[in-house]
This record gives sequence, C-alpha cells and structure tokens, in this order.
Amino acid sequence: MESLSEILSAQLKDNRWGDRYQKLIAAAEQDPDVVAFLQKHRTELTKEDIIRSASKLYEFVNFKRKLATGEKTFMPGYYPYLTLSNHHIEVTYTPTKEFVAHQKQKEVQQRVRIISLPKSIRDAKLEDYDPEGREEILDAALRFYQEFQTDPHVFHKGIYLEGNFGVGKTYLLGALANSLAEKGFSTTLVHFPSFAVKMKSSIGNNSTGQMIDSIKKAQILMLDDIGADQMSSWFRDDVLGVILQYRMQEELPTFFSSNLSLEQLEAEYLTINSRGEAEPLKAQRIMERIRFLADDYHVLGRNRRNKKI
Ligand code: ADP
Ligand code: MG
Repeated sequence: MESLSEILSAQLKDNRWGDRYQKLIAAAEQDPDVVAFLQKHRTELTKEDIIRSASKLYEFVNFKRKLATGEKTFMPGYYPYLTLSNHHIEVTYTPTKEFVAHQKQKEVQQRVRIISLPKSIRDAKLEDYDPEGREEILDAALRFYQEFQTDPHVFHKGIYLEGNFGVGKTYLLGALANSLAEKGFSTTLVHFPSFAVKMKSSIGNNSTGQMIDSIKKAQILMLDDIGADQMSSWFRDDVLGVILQYRMQEELPTFFSSNLSLEQLEAEYLTINSRGEAEPLKAQRIMERIRFLADDYHVLGRNRRNKKI
C-alpha cells in the first residue's frame, strides 16, 4: 500500500496546500490510529477517498495532539475516533469515561441547592456518618431514604432534629440530601436565619414572592437551624407559615433542625414577636404544620466542632 504522503503527493505539489498541511499529513502518517484505520479499510477506500478526507485526518491528529499537550480543544472531555461513512472518513467524538463521571457528579451536585450554608456540606455522606450514640436518628434518616425512593409520590414525614450546637445536625441533613441526589431527587437545604435576613432585605422589591415560591416548592426541603434568630410576625405568618402551609397541602417532605425542642420552639421562638407581644394562636398554627410534616428526634452526643473525630 502506498503511504499517505505518496497518495497525497500530487495534491501536495499544488501550492495551495502549503507547508503547514504537509506537516500535518506527515503527522497523520505517523499516527498509529490513522495507520491502523487506513489498513483496516484498505479495500473500501480508494486514493480519491483518502485525498478527499485529508482534512478529516488532519482534524483527527490535530485534536489528539492537543489532548496530548493539554491544550484546550473545541470539545473538552471528548476523544476523537475515525469512522467510515459512505467512503468518507469522519471524525466522531465520544466523551471520555472521566468526563462522563464528572458530568454525572455535577448533575448530582446540582440536585442539592444549598442556601447560606458552608460548601463543605457537599462532602457529607451518610456512609461516613459516625452513628455513635445517635443510632436512632441515623436509622430514621435511612428509613426516609429507603421509603422515599420506594414511593416518592406518597407523603413521607420528614424529621425534626433537635440537639445542641455541634452534634452533627446540619451534617446529617446534608448527608441525606447528597444521598438522595445520587438517586435523582432534589433537595433545597436552607440556613434558616440567613434566609430570614435575605427575605427582610428583599421586602419592597419583587423578589420576595419568588424566593418564597422557590423554597416552598422544593421537592425535599430542609430548614436548618430554625429558632436561632428572632422572628417577626411578618416572617412567621407570611413567609414560614406560607411555606409550611403549601408543603402540608402538597404533602412534600420537609426537615428541620434546631437547638430548640418543639415545646421551646413554640414558646420561645414562635409565640413572642419582635415587639415583645405574645401571639400564642399564631404560634400554634405553625406548630401544627411542623408536627404534621415531621417527627421529632433528639440528637445527643458531643460537640464535634473543631475536634478530631
Ligand atoms: P450542628 O449542625 O448540630 O451544629 P454540624 O453538623 O455543623 O453540627 O457538625 C459539627 C462538625 O462536626 C462539622 O464539622 C461536621 O462536619 C462534623 N460532624 C458532625 N457529625 C459528624 C459525623 N457523624 N460524622 C462525621 N463528621 C461529623
Ligand atoms: Mg447546624
């Protein structure tokens, strides 16, 4: 069989092709994939076919060269293959395994929307959760994880995690959200006091309603650290109340974490408004919704912050 440059020599003499092209053809000739491809298809490819496809061979070796030198290609994450289609050589691009895995990882991450919580929550895993002294809540989380997957369209009660600062409440919620994301479910995990501040600063512009909507409609919602700030009547009734009402009506899974027990939450957080007035009926309405949406668990254990575990 003639070499590629022999086949192309007639064309190469034509000055239109230029030096650069000659070099590329020389490179193509050296490329083991090109050699193997031409060899494999020698009976199907005429000289003319190869001449016509020279630019494709160039595209192929040039792409491979860029991959080898780490240059940016026009299709990052893809690898080229030569294919034959009706006597034309074509370059087909296929994503690399690493690229596919990376894309999947990105999709999984996008299913967990984190609002005002440390990004490290993205690394929390149920498998890594140290259950020491907290088997009951880990069991409850795993039960939800199983049952929700089995039938995501019926109502599953969420969990109200009560426990001291640093015992791993946020970690558990994040780990559960990440595991559910692996299975295709989306969670919004909100640091509740920061959300309240954001909402307050949005009063007067049109985004308030949109923000409430995007939170209340989350497939799975986790309100982290509820009760850690001081609540206004407006926020209790027109924000939290609206969100919980919707989730109750639509029977959407909702989780909470708090330093306060349900009783404390009612008496210390929801009843007294920021003007110091007691509004027990309003507080009761919210409590009914929380109790409908979640079962409460007390997380025991030591403070794990800034300590080796
Ligand atoms: P809380 O929300 O209850 O205040 P965090 O979830 O923020 O507590 O946990 C405190 C620290 O301990 C975090 O750095 C977290 O990553 C780590 N942590 C908590 N629980 C566990 C656990 N079971 N396994 C591994 N790390 C944990
Ligand atoms: Mg926390």
